[in-house]
Amino acid sequence: MSLTRTTCPYCGVGCGVLADADGTIKGDPDHPANFGRLCSKGAALGETIDLDGRLLHPQINGQRADWDTALDLVAQKFSKAIAEYGPESVAFYASGQLLTEDYYVANKLMKGFIGAANIDTNSRLCMASSVAGHKRAFGTDTVPGTYEDLEEADLIVLVGSNLAWCHPVLYQRIAAAKETRPNMRIVNVDPRRTATTDLADMHLQIAPDGDIALFNGLLAHLADTQKLDATYAQNHVNGMEAAIAAARASNPADSGVQTQELATFFSLWANTTKVVTVYSQGVNQSACGTDKVNAILNCHLATGRIGRPGMGPFSVTGQPNAMGGREVGGLANMLANHLELGNADHRQAVQDFWESPTISTQAGLKAVDLFQACADGQIKALWVMSTNPAVSLPDADGVAAAIANVPFVVTSDIMEKTDTNDLAHVLLPATGWGEKDGTVTNSERRISRQRAFLSAPGSARPDWQIISDVAARMGFGDAFAYQTPADIFAEYVALDAAVSRFPRDLDLSIFADADYASLVPTQWPHNNRRFFADGQFYHPDGKAQMIPIQTPALSKPRFALNTGRNRDQWHTMTRTGKSARLGPHLAEPYVEMHPTDAAALGAAPGALIAVESIYGRTILRALITPRVAQGQLFAPMHWTRQRTTHGTVNSVTAPVTDPFSGQPALKSGAVSASVYKPKWYGFLASNIAPTPQAPYAAVARTQTGWQVELAGSKMPADWETEARKLSEQAEGEVSMQSDPATGTIRIAIVQNGLITALFFASPSPVVVSRTTIISLIGSDTPPLAALAGRSASNQPDAGATVCACFNVGRNTLLAAAANGARSVAALGDATCAGTNCGSCKPELTALLAEASLPMAAE
Ligand code: SF4
Repeated sequence: MSLTRTTCPYCGVGCGVLADADGTIKGDPDHPANFGRLCSKGAALGETIDLDGRLLHPQINGQRADWDTALDLVAQKFSKAIAEYGPESVAFYASGQLLTEDYYVANKLMKGFIGAANIDTNSRLCMASSVAGHKRAFGTDTVPGTYEDLEEADLIVLVGSNLAWCHPVLYQRIAAAKETRPNMRIVNVDPRRTATTDLADMHLQIAPDGDIALFNGLLAHLADTQKLDATYAQNHVNGMEAAIAAARASNPADSGVQTQELATFFSLWANTTKVVTVYSQGVNQSACGTDKVNAILNCHLATGRIGRPGMGPFSVTGQPNAMGGREVGGLANMLANHLELGNADHRQAVQDFWESPTISTQAGLKAVDLFQACADGQIKALWVMSTNPAVSLPDADGVAAAIANVPFVVTSDIMEKTDTNDLAHVLLPATGWGEKDGTVTNSERRISRQRAFLSAPGSARPDWQIISDVAARMGFGDAFAYQTPADIFAEYVALDAAVSRFPRDLDLSIFADADYASLVPTQWPHNNRRFFADGQFYHPDGKAQMIPIQTPALSKPRFALNTGRNRDQWHTMTRTGKSARLGPHLAEPYVEMHPTDAAALGAAPGALIAVESIYGRTILRALITPRVAQGQLFAPMHWTRQRTTHGTVNSVTAPVTDPFSGQPALKSGAVSASVYKPKWYGFLASNIAPTPQAPYAAVARTQTGWQVELAGSKMPADWETEARKLSEQAEGEVSMQSDPATGTIRIAIVQNGLITALFFASPSPVVVSRTTIISLIGSDTPPLAALAGRSASNQPDAGATVCACFNVGRNTLLAAAANGARSVAALGDATCAGTNCGSCKPELTALLAEASLPMAAE
């Protein structure tokens, strides 16, 4: 079989994938990011390429339209708004899922031809604070590290990064390196214990936003113990004295870490030369995210631990092409190719190259401000590309209302039903992963090709083509006459050459003669050149800049809400939510809560918790665990209004942003929590996709169809009618059992001799084996046996899914452990769990520990 060499569309690790139209997916053994590995999400990509739910044709106000009509309308509306209200009245909101070529064209249209800079992206939510911190310290947005540095380091400090779930293949590379070199030390800095913590020698459970006190304390310790590299600092760094003075004014105890642990960490860092500090959203998504980044960079600059193998700061990006977006300048405060909007020479050079009628002269609206401008009526025409801001931005309900307030909204997307598409006047069908061609840049500056191995479905078109077609209709056809993405990439590289006289880190010269079709994964500036090895930075005097950082005053709300990701889902689940393999792992929106807090609220296991703020309310299943500290909550951000009734976590997060980067603080918002007391709880398994309808409803894909966790605020008059309504199955024969003593209801719907729905309701959280009930859908099991929760084959209940690749449940693993499988490897031998992508290995470790079994050395 001939497999197409492409790149995973999920996280910023940027793994190489071998793919085929029949759904075959393999890790690319030759890709330097993953060397053949894939995580559970990447391995399940073949289950996400069907056309179910796809947007296949343009729509205007919900009616199918042809491309010419839709594109004419978009161009006319944008042109009219610009003519009447000026270029600042229109905006693009793009995405780290766009390919570099798409991003380049969108940025060129907005900044060079419309003449505003109102193009921002969901990357603002991902790593904008790192960009701002890098520019303050280095003079450029340079990520100096490589993945090999992680394997060469003697100490890795993971700050605000659940790498095991959010960058699993990178986590696996570190785990493998630590296995080879057991003396490698890993410190995990995180307010909560995560799957990543299991690999760490030390967990520093900081207070939310306690990072600055921690790294200021480290810098002061390095100064006090003469561990600074004075020669390096003198030759290559400015601002050290002021930074140290500010650090000394900090109180390390404000980090929330105990004195002895602080001393151990400071000593370990001070006495280890090869240190890599990895950070991601836990650092970036904060009201002081940029300062956090600089507090970390200060320590590396003061010790000269940068620019050499196995050491340095390393910002890892959440999105597949956040780095590509940064490179082409696809953010409101950037120009193009790492040039500055505020620099008149840079602007002139870009305008000359583009031969554009104008060039934006000032920064545009950053994400949160952009949607505030929508609410205020400033934005008259908005184009949302490949993203879902009505779910992903803080104050998501306010953002949805703001989008609804814009007179003309167009979206380009691969899916028809999304929370943002529901608010748009025009939907434009874009090609998706596997259908489109282009490039992406991963977290270590490696540009790889995404290649098509599927034909475009319906009348879907690539984003770059859609944007170019609109540009042509706005009168800019000559500048957007691209025939292929290769044309755009060539122009992007040529622009880089045209502005090479300006000192920048970006250098695409290695791609000047590259054959786009056969382009192999390539790091810029060119393979094996290490940034800052010569001590030269990009401020005018060639030195780096240390920044004095003040420790922020931290508020202590009753509950601080931290948001993040699950192992097996990606963003708003429009793609991963299709996979039956990925659906069962943490199949409903939940909130992690400390047992003491749960007891204080009266929340029992399985309770529903109403989390509220001045912005809104969400209802989530309680997951009671000491992984979170008292007074803190954690909830994943994946659930949308398409799959839940009240599970959109960003309904309660606040639009508070970092003053330098504009990145929202999504990790420590003040909320209240209380037990939500419904009249009944329910569980439904069905062979067709139900719409979430009850006051609490969470829909997930299963191997046999769909499941819904439910709760209602009113007792239905008739349970059969309720079951038919919730399952959307008017047909079929109903079998029902009720137990007046417990108030339990069990209903089976059978069509043509096969079970099509099973519904359970109870005054308390429903206790049935989800795995068993789901396995009965589509079977000819007698209804009474099915309602008893027994499978026809009398298979034991596998329990909640832990290993998505082989669908291995918790009960199966516990049984294997009880039978002597006392290591992760032995569990793998016994059940196959963890032997494919390895994403569940941290959970296997935790399960063994929980089972109180002695662990064998692996
Ligand atoms: Fe994709 Fe997983 Fe690799 Fe990230 S780690 S790029 S999600 S396969």
